[in-house]
Amino acid sequence: MDATIPSRQKVMKDHKDAGGFTAAVFPIHYPRPLFRAYNVLPVEVWGPPKADPHLWEAHLQTYTCSVIRNGLSFFIAGGLDGVDMLVVPHCCDTLQGLGSILQNYLPQNKRVLTLYIPRDSREIDINYLAREMKILSGRIGEVTGTELDESKLIKCIDEEDRSNAIVGRMFQQRTQLSCSDREFYEIIRSREYLPADAFITLVEGFMARAKNQDGGRIPVVISGIIPEPMDIFNSLNGIGLTVVGDDLFTTGRRIYSRSDSTDPWTRMSEMIIKGPPDSTRGNFLTNRVKYLVDLTKESGARGVIFYHVKFCEPEQFYYPALKKGLENAGIPSVLVEAEIGDPLPGQVVTRLEAFKEVIS
Ligand code: SF4
Repeated sequence: MDATIPSRQKVMKDHKDAGGFTAAVFPIHYPRPLFRAYNVLPVEVWGPPKADPHLWEAHLQTYTCSVIRNGLSFFIAGGLDGVDMLVVPHCCDTLQGLGSILQNYLPQNKRVLTLYIPRDSREIDINYLAREMKILSGRIGEVTGTELDESKLIKCIDEEDRSNAIVGRMFQQRTQLSCSDREFYEIIRSREYLPADAFITLVEGFMARAKNQDGGRIPVVISGIIPEPMDIFNSLNGIGLTVVGDDLFTTGRRIYSRSDSTDPWTRMSEMIIKGPPDSTRGNFLTNRVKYLVDLTKESGARGVIFYHVKFCEPEQFYYPALKKGLENAGIPSVLVEAEIGDPLPGQVVTRLEAFKEVIS
């Protein structure tokens, strides 16, 4: 299906040329609307696949995930030289370590902004994160030399709510869209760098061209961190599988629901705290199991593919309970691992082919 997605470099250049700022944001959760309210374009860094595979070696242990290895290599190679600030949310120990390296152990002069995401979802956690965001806001203001306009912030939050709703709709209507999984995910993942209004326009155009057509593939849920290499989707479709439910950090676990609060800080905080349960926010195993079982049943999927990045401790910790919970609900699953920047391993394809036989 034909859809022109502007490149990351072009979007960043256009934004800078128009007088805006840019921020390189490491995974996972952060308040997009807050950056936009300061005219800062947040551009996410999920371990760029083409990063030099060795530059990180002097700074990280060999058992660090490729999201962080590649992200740090990309930074050292100068890939982030053009941005005005770096943002490292403390979503896991590895990200926290990266924040320290960038702040204290590498000779570099970019401002590094951090944000601590609470590991629970009580009222006190919502208030804590709201306060963290106010501190972050002050730091963004220092870098940009501007002050926050709260009415603009509210508009940006409204836009983010629309953006979340439209991604949710894309998944609900997935089986009616006449496109490959790869095309579908290329559209959705442009959210990692497009301004919200441009993203919404792009998706609306894409959805309008959708035809009522069932490709006849077997529906599955994908769970994990990031769909890299994106060839995974070519393989899935080639085997006869299609993704109808998403529990990935890059996408499904960041479809935040709308908050009822009238306070913009609470709204942004609740977006994240009340989002789909995930391993990095320390949600109860039972909540993760229930969420994944419900997602599978509601999307009509016949099984779950755990698509893990090697050395991701939060995901590995949750996996045994998730597998068992799915088994108890009569839902088959399979675990495969891949590395950002590497070709899709042949053994992954073989395991997926065998899984297809199980769920056919
Ligand atoms: S959540 Fe996993 S993949 Fe993501 S940065 Fe942390 S360890 Fe790496």
